[in-house]
Amino acid sequence: MSTTSQNSASDDAAREDSPPRATSILELVGNTPLLDVTRMGDELSPKVRIYAKLEGFNPGGSVKDRAALWMMRQGIASGELREGKIVLDSTSGNTGIALAMIGAALGYPVTLVMPDNVSVERKKIISAYGADVIYSSGMEGSDGAIIKCREVLNADPDRYFKPDQYFNPNNPQAHYESTGPEIWEATGGSITHFVAGIGTGGTIMGTGRYLKEKNPAVQVIAAEPDDALHGLEGLKHMASSIVPGIYHEEELDGKVPVPTEDAYDLCYRLGEELGVVVGQSSGAALYAALEVARDLDEGVVVLIFCDFGDRYLSTNLWHGWIDWAQSREQRRK
Ligand code: PMP
Repeated sequence: MSTTSQNSASDDAAREDSPPRATSILELVGNTPLLDVTRMGDELSPKVRIYAKLEGFNPGGSVKDRAALWMMRQGIASGELREGKIVLDSTSGNTGIALAMIGAALGYPVTLVMPDNVSVERKKIISAYGADVIYSSGMEGSDGAIIKCREVLNADPDRYFKPDQYFNPNNPQAHYESTGPEIWEATGGSITHFVAGIGTGGTIMGTGRYLKEKNPAVQVIAAEPDDALHGLEGLKHMASSIVPGIYHEEELDGKVPVPTEDAYDLCYRLGEELGVVVGQSSGAALYAALEVARDLDEGVVVLIFCDFGDRYLSTNLWHGWIDWAQSREQRRK
């Protein structure tokens, strides 16, 4: 017969490999799994492996949980974020969701400036976390949101704490301290190439820096939209964008230009062939990773799948998916 005290004793002795037990949702950020996606490549050398890090498993649903958590923690540590302040930032979506989640968990109000054409799923999730939204013109993309956010801040600077993800060193630092070490450990130090898209550049800069410190031979490659007018939500075409302060292109070993349609096709294939439904930036990263892998005799390529695809169900990605599904019969012949 078990008693209460026996129960709590056995609770305390939870096995090391038991699922995590958290007292705050924030303890569940990070430690995301790697998935072998090598099968997506044609004619690769048998000595090449490709692994995707599934950042959709973060509690806010994307890689941006890490950067947002590090920036807010640092704000609290420095005293810039304290009672009475509102967290304010411009975001194309995932950072907003992450800030809204963390604000709710830590008890800080959050206001987000974002283009009015971000997906309806994102708008609803942010509202579910209790955050306020100010919309900028969708025609002006994420740069329009940055400019509008500056205006709001300048009108009443003392009211806000602005994490400023495009310039805040704690954004790449989050990846230097978490994403990088996780990849290094999960691959047993065998990673040879790291591939990620560039939004703020936080993921690729911080992770790349850590991996190169562990092994300077690791190649860090960015997936970049091939055109200013692209449909890869979350990614920037640098030549036509405001360059983020934390982004240092000279630290990269290369960039792969990614056509939107090819990235979308890979998203559709990932769903059908691996049972993994991801967002368009993940398709872009996979496109770049396959380009890299094709040239290798051997190697371990790790890329980032920033989020899952269910937050894009109302976007062009899914309009294209309808055509893809309709052509399925044809392709199976
Ligand atoms: N993919 C998606 C879906 C994103 O939201 C972002 C962040 N804007 C990125 C990729 C790029 O991440 P980072 O800001 O770390 O460069």
